[in-house]
Amino acid sequence: MAEFKYKRILLKLSGEVLAGKLGFGLDFDAIRSISHQIVEISRAGVEVGLVVGGGNFFRGKQAVDEGIERSQADYMGMLGTVINSLALQDVLEKQGIPTRVQTAIQMQEIAEPYIRRRALRHMDKGRVLIFSAGTGSPYFSTDTAAALRAAEIGAQCLVKATKVDGIYDKDPMKNSDAVLYSSLTYMDALRQRIEVMDAAAFSLCMENKIPIVVMNVLEDGRLADFLIQGKKIGTIVS
Ligand code: UDP
Repeated sequence: MAEFKYKRILLKLSGEVLAGKLGFGLDFDAIRSISHQIVEISRAGVEVGLVVGGGNFFRGKQAVDEGIERSQADYMGMLGTVINSLALQDVLEKQGIPTRVQTAIQMQEIAEPYIRRRALRHMDKGRVLIFSAGTGSPYFSTDTAAALRAAEIGAQCLVKATKVDGIYDKDPMKNSDAVLYSSLTYMDALRQRIEVMDAAAFSLCMENKIPIVVMNVLEDGRLADFLIQGKKIGTIVS
């Protein structure tokens, strides 16, 4: 098996990526497309853990504006991540890759509970592990869950999949002259309040020396270009 710079990765997929062109809920064309990329890197021998967001269904913070109690809203958000995980699991398995879903909130009829050592064993066997329900606690985000699981499974890199090419000096959707950074330090990201991940996630990665790579996954083959071909893609925060 080929030697890769990053043999074990944690891939964070936001709900936005799974909503694709629909902008809400599940766009199965988008899910098939990202799954295809995951299958490609997994078959090549990269060990993949996935943390899936839930923003395509529900974000706790936003619901607070509607008068919903924060913890209640956050639990609703975490359940959204489970729906996403099950959709992703089905699509990945149809493409021929063995997977397991583990949830941070127990629901044993549909997924395993999160057990770190079991997760590691699945990954050793080449199964794609989907970590669901965030951290299991309100007031956190799935970005923080991704940083936490990355540290727990000893991931050598956290790949944050987005719809833009990386981190820019200003919002590229609103400013045509926005400049893409090829690299940043964790402190830069924290000081500049880069919004691509929250401060808790950046801090956890900084403390555990896990590089974060922010990259566009809308184009087919991007994950393989980065992880298998070793191309420089997106922005690395380290
Ligand atoms: N959430 C939470 N604790 C966690 C992870 C997520 O309470 O550990 C809730 C929170 O309400 C969040 C929602 O689940 O808004 C969906 O997650 P997130 O917003 O991180 O999804 P993404 O933006 O990545 O799609």
